[in-house]
Amino acid sequence: MFKRCRLAQCLTLLTTLSIFSAGSAVETPKKSGTTSKSKAPSRQTSDSSDSTVGKSGNDKSTAKKPAKVVKSAAEWRKQLTPMQYKVARLKSTEDAFSGEYWNCSKTGIYHCVCCDEPLFDSRTKFNSGTGWPSYWQPVAADIIKTRQDVSDGTRRVEVMCKRCDAHLGHVFGDGPAPTGLRYCINSASLKLEEKSDKEKTPK
Ligand SMILES: [Zn+2]
Repeated sequence: MFKRCRLAQCLTLLTTLSIFSAGSAVETPKKSGTTSKSKAPSRQTSDSSDSTVGKSGNDKSTAKKPAKVVKSAAEWRKQLTPMQYKVARLKSTEDAFSGEYWNCSKTGIYHCVCCDEPLFDSRTKFNSGTGWPSYWQPVAADIIKTRQDVSDGTRRVEVMCKRCDAHLGHVFGDGPAPTGLRYCINSASLKLEEKSDKEKTPK
């Protein structure tokens, strides 16, 4: 009897403990449950608001950085002249003194012929005597990208449009002040947007 009583006591203790532990076990997930529950509806609401934003097109207006331009070879061929395609998309080089801009002294901004990104300012253009339009710096450092080019057996640094990966030309370290760089660019990769107001100098 005594033993049974003890057993019964133990059992009650165990059950009480298990209830407690169950209770605490319930409590803990309850807490995390409430947090996950509170997250879930907010996610739902943000999802629904996102889709509304997406539909209304606000996403595009808030994104200031221009998106990367990716097109198929067929699409580029359609958009560009055979020479522009050969140079900008196939990394060819136009003959020296043959391009549209090597001897051009017009004022304006030279854009990427593929994606229209502004690349070089005419105020940084100089006569390098090479037969290719040459600049001592791009309009901004982050609009171009460079990579090592050993395709012709020499070490050169290729210059590309960061937005659409168009081949532009090469950059050399024998340029004039203030940068000492010479961006030797193919005319075929460029499109000059002339500035009508020459006096307009942004400060
Ligand atoms: Zn481009």
